Amino acid sequence: MDILLMGPPGAGKGTQGALLAQALGIPKFATGDLLRDAVKRGSPLGLQAKAVMEAGHLVGDEIILGVIREELGKPEAAKGVIYDGVVRTIPQAEGMERILSEKGRRMDAVLFFDVTDQEILSRLDRRREVEQRADDDPAAVTTRLRAYRQQTAPVLAWYEARDRVHTVPAVGSVEEIATRVRDALGK
Ligand code: ADP
Repeated sequence: MDILLMGPPGAGKGTQGALLAQALGIPKFATGDLLRDAVKRGSPLGLQAKAVMEAGHLVGDEIILGVIREELGKPEAAKGVIYDGVVRTIPQAEGMERILSEKGRRMDAVLFFDVTDQEILSRLDRRREVEQRADDDPAAVTTRLRAYRQQTAPVLAWYEARDRVHTVPAVGSVEEIATRVRDALGK
């Protein structure tokens, strides 16, 4: 099964994605984690992405589609993948569909983690203290929320038009939300 997790930054995609990947026995793939790792290692990809990420903007579609293609070429991705925040623009949604269809697959489900902006801002405030991510500073958070509203929210409509979206209210305990996720997928 190929499952895309969508929702604003701080919606809990990473936490729920890890639980779901474990439950389904398929890998989780997060472009944010992969890019952060590339920045840390100073690889060519990291050098390209660093400034853009730290400002809270989106990395270019061609770069992201290259990374997705590489990930889907791995043997462990053969039975499906949980994609955590991997598709954030319409060209990425179209490209992802193309890459999956070359393998006789498609995005089977999109889980939309629904949270208010107010809740997001207070969660990211807390996360900044704990994780010290460079892009959790207030200016970058505002830019990321704006990028989400302007570029990523339309992707949800794109998948809604194709009947793939399940909305998961994403406020509550980790276990409550995990149950909603499994119910939404009928698992
Ligand atoms: P968040 O969803 O909380 O913003 P992530 O860890 O998922 O955090 O992503 C961090 C940053 O990585 C984003 O702000 C963006 O710069 C970059 N990024 C990750 N995934 C994508 C993507 N699919 N398209 C463009 N940029 C991306």
